[in-house]
Amino acid sequence: MDLELLRELCETGGVPGREERVAKLVYATLRGHVDSLETDPIGNVIAYRKGSGGPKLMLAGHMDEIGFIVTHVDENGFLRFNPLGGFDPKTLTAQRVVVHTASGDLPGVMGSKPIHIMTEEERKQPPKLEDYFIDLGLSKEAVDEKVAVGDVVTRERAMVRIGSMINSKSLDNRAGLFVMLEAVRRLATMGHTVELYAVATVQEELGLRGAQVAASRIQPQIGIGLDTTIANDVPGAQPHEAVCKLGAGAGIKIMDSSVVCDPRMVDLMRRTAQRYSIPHQMEILPRGGTDTAAMQRFGQGAITGCISIPSRYVHSVIEMISEHDLAAAVDLLVAVVADAHTLLA
Ligand SMILES: [Zn+2]
Repeated sequence: MDLELLRELCETGGVPGREERVAKLVYATLRGHVDSLETDPIGNVIAYRKGSGGPKLMLAGHMDEIGFIVTHVDENGFLRFNPLGGFDPKTLTAQRVVVHTASGDLPGVMGSKPIHIMTEEERKQPPKLEDYFIDLGLSKEAVDEKVAVGDVVTRERAMVRIGSMINSKSLDNRAGLFVMLEAVRRLATMGHTVELYAVATVQEELGLRGAQVAASRIQPQIGIGLDTTIANDVPGAQPHEAVCKLGAGAGIKIMDSSVVCDPRMVDLMRRTAQRYSIPHQMEILPRGGTDTAAMQRFGQGAITGCISIPSRYVHSVIEMISEHDLAAAVDLLVAVVADAHTLLA
């Protein structure tokens, strides 16, 4: 696998509504491997590869990552912000960020009150998003000159190897996007029956917005989402609370809170994984949604499922996945796409 591509995808900023830098990487990766590449008005990148007369199959991997948007510059040059996507406030403590301005990217930190000067009451409370501000280390005048309300902010963190795992910000969902891109490049060398639409979607973290638009336009008969899911296989969690385990293989989604996957698709994924001895685990995620739901509900309604990449510490800057699970997800996606036309035979 091209893990340098995964690194580039993870380290490139792209909050919901501002995915253009990630879109550029998608173009660079797929150019020459597909029959057409276009960007729709909302910003989805739609890659199309001709099949041999089969049904339309749409893949959806979202490009956006959770981030922030600047709402206010205060009298001392500190920034206030709104979140774009779901944050656990405690994950903002002691983080570096990047503010994307018209004149270039600025490094900053998420400031908050030191524990030394917190009241007894404040120490007992979990942190709130409103407790944080962004400090650019610049004078009020310099900030006013460079930063505008509406500028977006991403978290700053490099991808590294930790033990046998991959650790980075934004593995949700650059890992899913990576699986889609790798699979499309591989499918391009082997051919397929389905009419293949690989869509790098926008604004998933704000409610599956890009995928709804793409599914309405493409009207796929079959849909496969690619996203991360939770691996809660850590100290303190009961075995029944794990959802998935890191290193135990690609996740085959049965349901999450946005979708009950089509049993025909779940069955095809499971049989395919068994047939090719691809490590896999069945996934039921109690809370959280994916683009899978948009493909099932929009357009004409599709036979839909999802291949998940298990991740520890989701929606933080230290998300952790297994390279082994990532490889299994690519293998499974390629094999399922190759056989997907049989769902409608
Ligand atoms: Zn996601």
